[in-house]
Amino acid sequence: MVASEAVPYAKTGGLADVVPALSRALTGRGHQVTIIMPRYSFIDTASFRELPLVPLISLGFAEYSLRLFTPIDGNGELSVIFLDHPLFSSRDGLYGENGGQPYRDNHIRFALLAKGAIETSRRLNLAPDLFHLHDWQAALVPAYLAEYEKTGVMAEARTIFTIHNIAYQGVFSKQDIHALALTWDSFSDRPAGYRDQINFLRSAIINSDHITTVSPSYAKEIMTEAFGEGLHTLLADHAGSVSGILNGADYKEWDPANDPFLDVSFGADDLSGKALAKKRLQKEADLPVDPSIPIIGMVGRLAEQKGFVELLDEKNGALQRILEGNKVQVVLLGTGASWIESRLLEISESHPNLRVFLTFNEKLAHVIEAGSDFFLMPSRYEPCGLNQIYSLRYGSLPIVTQTGGLADTVIPESQGRNRATGFVFPQCTPDQIVETVRHALDLWEHDRNAIDAMRRRAMRAHFSWEDSAAAYEKLYKRLINRPR
Ligand code: ADP
Repeated sequence: MVASEAVPYAKTGGLADVVPALSRALTGRGHQVTIIMPRYSFIDTASFRELPLVPLISLGFAEYSLRLFTPIDGNGELSVIFLDHPLFSSRDGLYGENGGQPYRDNHIRFALLAKGAIETSRRLNLAPDLFHLHDWQAALVPAYLAEYEKTGVMAEARTIFTIHNIAYQGVFSKQDIHALALTWDSFSDRPAGYRDQINFLRSAIINSDHITTVSPSYAKEIMTEAFGEGLHTLLADHAGSVSGILNGADYKEWDPANDPFLDVSFGADDLSGKALAKKRLQKEADLPVDPSIPIIGMVGRLAEQKGFVELLDEKNGALQRILEGNKVQVVLLGTGASWIESRLLEISESHPNLRVFLTFNEKLAHVIEAGSDFFLMPSRYEPCGLNQIYSLRYGSLPIVTQTGGLADTVIPESQGRNRATGFVFPQCTPDQIVETVRHALDLWEHDRNAIDAMRRRAMRAHFSWEDSAAAYEKLYKRLINRPR
């Protein structure tokens, strides 16, 4: 696995959870997995072992020597190798200074990760059957691997590239091509094709044996203009080797039957604890404690991706319309864009049934998942999404857009009342959000039995890493056994 993030060492997004969780599940199935990632300044090497090897990486006219570190106890069963170089370890951030511009030499830094991962594997005789690469930071591995293969080195290794969010592509100025020691052939599959910019993701799409995304629906969506962020045609050209595998949820962390953040427990067979959890949430949020008022929870990054333009629009915004009439309580936890934060505060001042927490608070995320009746996630697009999966398990019925991973995890009423696990609307528009929320609240008011049945069904849905790892394993085997 080559990636720029993995918990517990470095995290800015969901990718950091996926890489070790998938690696662990694969290890559990008998595979030998090594994660290769950069050693950032905040990763302390004091408890690591340095490997007696200093790979030398040449990129253009420059040479970079890497030191290699590995955790002494191997972090349980997981093997991690850190590439140590001042390009990573002398900076405060991963991709840029906190909240600031990206580092100007990110193309070199992540070319170094890519080539360094290959050279390290070679020098350590890891002889990988397959490189699994994650997001643009690892995207040059297939291009460099092709160079190695010309000399007969690593000729057997296959490559899978996973797109966790196509909005991030690793785009750099065309002049930077010289520093990468690659030609334009690595970025375009047509003679004299695309040469306006360097785009790391393009290189991965062209040169990998297979592309995956983190849900089947998102895999289809990124081949359309509306979701492909300029890469839809290229992806459609490679449609035969693009597929989606849903992420798993970590039910050791997220299960109301056994949640260390809660002082109650509940499950599909006994919902009494859920009523207590709701009471706790109403208290915590300083809202009237009343079991008859439904609560809608929201947790997540405050970003346009998550539907906040549609929720907060001055004239037509969905949130205000939902809050009107005081028939529902809304509790929101999130941090992000400052315009969203201030608009939320503004609305909460005039609407006492909205409570906003603008912090990052893991415990509160659990408390909200547990205590809510519904969970609103009206994303414009959603590669996989985790919170709706947690919500299902906590019996907080998801109200979501029919997109990406949301569409793949929440079963809408249109598939039958006796199958539904949530409420789904086709597109993220203010009207559709309001309409669907009102419909859910109506059902709450008039048919609590239907809500309860749906809730129990939702709580029994299961999206485990074991299932995801089995799907990846099948794909790995197919690629490894396929003749070149
Ligand atoms: P994304 O990766 O697009 O941010 P996901 O739904 O896939 O969205 O994952 C978000 C994760 O981050 C979830 O585990 C969620 O609980 C957590 N999270 C996001 N914002 C907060 C916050 N303010 N406080 C606590 N947890 C948060």
